[in-house]
Amino acid sequence: MPSCDGNALVIFSGGQDSTTCLGWALNRFRTVATIGFHYGQRHDVEMQCRQDVLAAIGDVRPGWKAHLGTDTVVEMGLFRELGETALTHDVAIEMGRNGLPSTFVPGRNLMFLTAAAACAYRQGIRHLVLGVCETDFSGYPDCRDDAMKAMQVALNLGMESRFVVHTPLMWLTKAQTWDMARDEGGQDFVELVLERSHTCYKGVRDVRHPWGYGCGTCPACELRRAGWDAYVVGHAVHGEGR
Ligand code: ZN
Repeated sequence: MPSCDGNALVIFSGGQDSTTCLGWALNRFRTVATIGFHYGQRHDVEMQCRQDVLAAIGDVRPGWKAHLGTDTVVEMGLFRELGETALTHDVAIEMGRNGLPSTFVPGRNLMFLTAAAACAYRQGIRHLVLGVCETDFSGYPDCRDDAMKAMQVALNLGMESRFVVHTPLMWLTKAQTWDMARDEGGQDFVELVLERSHTCYKGVRDVRHPWGYGCGTCPACELRRAGWDAYVVGHAVHGEGR
């Protein structure tokens, strides 16, 4: 495991991906602060889940609690004002004529990263971590590696800084993201991600599946279920020693 070095700020939503990234960062950085955004999500359950994860993650591995820094929540209600999406309004989750799903919130990750960098700047933090992924990505262009690299350049030019944008999940499948959770924090961390992180677009928390809570039918649930199934099959094939 790499030694802890420097401070990091994790863009943390309480979902599977950002929870896994938080564990990854806690193994690598001296202090790991978190930032989350109220952007007019249709369901407040996501914000509650991120608090639950933050309350529990310090106990997963020795030392994690000591590395956990401050949490900041920023209001970004402007996304609701800018237009309707399936994440911010009661509209159907479907594919649009532009080839992007209606859950796409234009500019969201770009603005999250900009706000996170502004927060990190004030706290003297150099490393920014976010759980975007190009491999299994849901068609969101702002999850792509090139977009993140361009943002790193723009932020460093615009803030006269040397931020490093880390995207540890960028080239992983959803099954490999579960593998990462296990590698970083063992079975206790896998259990925490299963039980406390939230993925479902519809905000369902009262139905528990083997892969966690959710409606089971929205695109986010389908992706999470497929990843979990592939992870379980992989362990059945390769055994526990891999
Ligand atoms: Zn769902």
